[in-house]
This record gives sequence, C-alpha cells and structure tokens, in this order.
Amino acid sequence: MALGDFKVIYLGGMGRSGSTLIERLLGELPGVCIAGEVVHLWERGVVANERCGCGTEFRSCEFWSRVGDSAFGGWSNLDVQRIAELRASVDRTRFIPLLARRSPAAGLRRDLGEYTGYYQRLYQALATVSGCGTVVDSSKHASLAFCLSQRAELDLRVVHVVRDSRAVAHSWTRQVRRPEAPGESFMTTYSPLRAAREWNAQNGALQLLARTSTPVTLLRYEDLVPAVKPAVRSLANFAGLAAPDTGLAFIGGEGPAQWAQLHPAHTAAGNPMRFTAGRIAIRSDDRWQQDMPDSARRAVTALTLPLLNHYGYLRGTQ
Ligand SMILES: [Zn+2]
Repeated sequence: MALGDFKVIYLGGMGRSGSTLIERLLGELPGVCIAGEVVHLWERGVVANERCGCGTEFRSCEFWSRVGDSAFGGWSNLDVQRIAELRASVDRTRFIPLLARRSPAAGLRRDLGEYTGYYQRLYQALATVSGCGTVVDSSKHASLAFCLSQRAELDLRVVHVVRDSRAVAHSWTRQVRRPEAPGESFMTTYSPLRAAREWNAQNGALQLLARTSTPVTLLRYEDLVPAVKPAVRSLANFAGLAAPDTGLAFIGGEGPAQWAQLHPAHTAAGNPMRFTAGRIAIRSDDRWQQDMPDSARRAVTALTLPLLNHYGYLRGTQ
C-alpha cells in the first residue's frame, strides 16, 4: 500500500488509562488494523519472541511473519540494537522540548528520520498485509508521538486517552501477571508518587502536542465507559472512517450492562487484556475509590491538581 493510502492512529497517554480497551474496540471497525504497543514490539516480539495477541509466539505468527517480510525482507534483517540506540537518542520524555520545535537541530533530525523510518516501514507493511487503510499503534508514550509527528509524510492522528490520576496511580501499584512471557513475569509497578509524576509528564506533553499541527483528540476513560458506542463513533469520525454507524453491532447493552464482542487480534505487546476474546463486559473499574490508602490519594491529588482540574475530575462529574 502506498504511503498516502493509509493513516496511523496513535493512542497516547499514561498506561492503565484504558487504551487497550480502546484499541480493541477500534480493531473491530472495518478497515482498521491494530498492532499493539509498537514501541515494545522490537524487543518483546522480534527479540524475546513473546506471544502475539492471537496466542502464537511472535516469530510463529503468520501475520507478523508476512509483516516482517514486507517491511524489512524478514525480521532477521532488522537491526533491533540500532532501533534501541536511536530510541535512546531521540525517544525520551526529556527530549520533548527539543522535539516540539518546528525544526529540531540537524543531528537530532537525522536520528529522528532514521528512527521513525523503521516505524513508517512497519506501519506501511501492516497496512499492506492487512489490507486496512488505518493502522492503530497503542504505544502510549508522548515522546514517540512527538517523534512521529516530525515525519511530515505520515498521516498521523493522536487519541489522547486520559483517566483520573488517582485511579491510574492505584492501578500501577497492583501486581499484574504478563501471560505472554515465559515463567513468572509481572508488569512494572510504580509507587503512587512516581505514577503521579509520570501522569503529569505524559498528559502535559500531549496537551502540548495538541497545540501543534498534529491532529489530537481527547478521550476520557470516564466518558467512554458509560457510553461506549458514542465514544467509538466519535473516534471513527476523528479517524476519517467511512460510515461508522454500520459497523458498531459488536457493541451492545446499556449503562453497566454494556458489552463488546471482540475477535482475537495480532497485537504484538501491551496490557494482558489484549488476549481476551469473545463477549466482554464493559463497566467502570473504580476499585481505587475503596482500596486506595487516604495518604496516597491525597498525595496524588495534590501532585496532579492542575491537570485533574483541567480534565474536570474535581467537579464530581466522573
Ligand atoms: Zn498473531
């Protein structure tokens, strides 16, 4: 598929904000191919051979084999170490002020071009192999969104996913198994304070991105969960997908009885929810309101106050 014939929807925001659910819902729309968190695909898929969302190990998954052939003439030709080096030199939260400039310095621009070139080849291969005109990358990191936004030839649109910082911080303290990895492996945990700082950094950076020429739309997890269909319809419009009304039969029920019927998807890395298929219930996860210690709740509220207020979380309208 030619470069101008597909677009990339990038899900940005702090982890544990519901981006995996959003990605899976988008993946049910006609003409949409979801890839998982591409930022982790190189290490966890290509190198560590962790399981794809379809349940097969990455290198045995036929879909990803075809993508690797189309993008790089086979995964064995890909220099993953080089991608890691480039990532360290351009794709970091602390580089965002440099990446936000209209024309970054020459050295940075060269590395950026090489780094995002790998992503572009991968996206193009995903579009070609799947036959879909829209590719979804749920990498989430604001820094990667900034890197990709510097690549003018890419039709990039960013969905900024936000969730209440207290809910997010509480979620990051919980131990969650990673079923895709061999043996006992768990998702990273953060202290509430670390999660609060990250929440500020990721959301603040995406606010900044919205002031550039890259199209950015904001979606609050708390607005998605009570009314899934309107939220998905609005995302489909943002993505420029034709006639989304006809393709939403996979979402049903009302209020707390809402459900979605999900197919297995070839997602390369991400939250364990990517392995769930069949009919899933969609209801709000507000365990933090009972389980989060008061001291942690107060500290996270204080640290994230300006943006919490900006997103309307202090008005009791969650
Ligand atoms: Zn697969």
